[in-house]
Amino acid sequence: MSELDEIGEAPVIIAAPTVFGASGVVGSVRGRCAECGIEVWLAPSSQALIAKRPGTLVLCMTCGFARAEAATDGAQFATAPGAYTEFIARLISRA
Ligand SMILES: [Zn+2]
Repeated sequence: MSELDEIGEAPVIIAAPTVFGASGVVGSVRGRCAECGIEVWLAPSSQALIAKRPGTLVLCMTCGFARAEAATDGAQFATAPGAYTEFIARLISRA
């Protein structure tokens, strides 16, 4: 994985649908998948990325992974800056 800043094109955020349950990441807000419209969680790291990179596309896991699988030009995956910290904080809060 690489840092998103290394990727030139507008990123796509793959987000967890809210129907899966609480985000668990403090500061998460609700957003929408740009393709199917289902409600998804946007963690602060995703919110910051959207603010920093205009054109960022938000997709739910189903739409996002389907698009990545169909990509013929080689999809690149990266974590948003700060996403690891959010993930670890969530694990610790559940311990
Ligand atoms: Zn979707």
